[in-house]
Amino acid sequence: MNTQTHLLVAAAIFAKPDAPRRNTALVIGALLPDFPVLTLFVWGSVTGVPQGELWGSIYFSEPMLTFTAIANAAPLYAAIALLAWAYARWKSGAPLPTLPTLTVLGLAALTHLAGDFPVHVEDAHPHFWPFSDWRFHSPVSYWDGAYNGRAFSVFEATLGLALAAILYKRFNATWVHVLLGTAVVAYFAVPVFWFLQF
Ligand SMILES: [Zn+2]
Repeated sequence: MNTQTHLLVAAAIFAKPDAPRRNTALVIGALLPDFPVLTLFVWGSVTGVPQGELWGSIYFSEPMLTFTAIANAAPLYAAIALLAWAYARWKSGAPLPTLPTLTVLGLAALTHLAGDFPVHVEDAHPHFWPFSDWRFHSPVSYWDGAYNGRAFSVFEATLGLALAAILYKRFNATWVHVLLGTAVVAYFAVPVFWFLQF
């Protein structure tokens, strides 16, 4: 799915007003799996490498394949979430009132992977890396029109709009409202960007 959807899903599940550490952790966790993609995008924009070459060949060769495999590895995030929880539980000696910050980060990243799993075709990630290179090649792509991408895009934008509305009500801060507005605008801006590229 698109980056802003991952952020909205993780925020809808984990975000609480007046919990800045928790909220920062969920934002980082939701973004981490897309970090190699975002880095490649910025690098391409700075160096002027054509978009077609970025996503047609560089994205599918080393070292990008290793970077994306690590960033999308479910065992890694599950381990972070579990170890942070076990350590905090052992240290406090009593049931934890809230989830530890790193556990929120790991769980937010796992919601990202769960969102991507059913909607990647040729660009599917080996989500069980390093234990297995297996990839689920779904019949549905979140972007490719040849694999129901258009229908899914409409569904994704609708979901994003609903989640943004829920978060808008949960948070009163103006900057949060501005961010949510930006996320909603991205559903229209991203397709326009790609339309202008090709
Ligand atoms: Zn992703």
